[in-house]
Amino acid sequence: MIIKSVNLETVCGVRSVLPENNKPEIAFAGKSNVGKSSLINSLVNRKSLAKTSSQPGKTQTINYYNINDALYFVDLPGYGFAKTSAVLREQWGKMVDRYLMSSKQLKVIFLLVDIRHEPSQNDKQMYEWMVYHGFDPVIIATKLDKIKRSQINKHIKMIKDGIGAGPETKIFPFSSLTKQGKDEIWEYIEAVCGL
Ligand code: GDP
Repeated sequence: MIIKSVNLETVCGVRSVLPENNKPEIAFAGKSNVGKSSLINSLVNRKSLAKTSSQPGKTQTINYYNINDALYFVDLPGYGFAKTSAVLREQWGKMVDRYLMSSKQLKVIFLLVDIRHEPSQNDKQMYEWMVYHGFDPVIIATKLDKIKRSQINKHIKMIKDGIGAGPETKIFPFSSLTKQGKDEIWEYIEAVCGL
């Protein structure tokens, strides 16, 4: 995809009305620090469009990036801070739940996990929750540059098994340092959006 324009069009807080877009939406979810902002920035060839997600206690928002007036990237708030308060966790759940239930344009949810580690309990819950909502999440295994090439298949299996995904589940290894995986992810996005 040749990126001609990209802008942060809408930022939604807990009480915001979510926009009803008429373009396909691609959502990104994952625990904080997994590399979600880095992935989004890499995909749209920008250095710091998506800011590194929330720190504990920071406002959580759903950010809609308009790409080429052709599709939206929907950046869901990061989860999984050990110190997150119960109130914030509940707000987070409500926001994401509302988005998953109301979006009519959501074509795929990318769930990001760190390729080095076994998925956490939060990752697993997130995966199950998306499946419960009728989605078939696609996994992006981030920080690919941090493991040896010979270990990739082993780690992919560890992630699939750990998160409870079936063998047919798609998983894209990706590195924002080397950009490995970027073309494959864009190909997939274009296919699901019919672009
Ligand atoms: P977010 O909280 O999920 O948005 O995560 P960020 O994109 O801000 O990344 C968190 C940290 O991981 C930052 O220090 C990034 O530089 C680093 N990081 C993100 N992606 C990669 C990657 O592919 N490879 C490596 N080595 N580091 C990464």
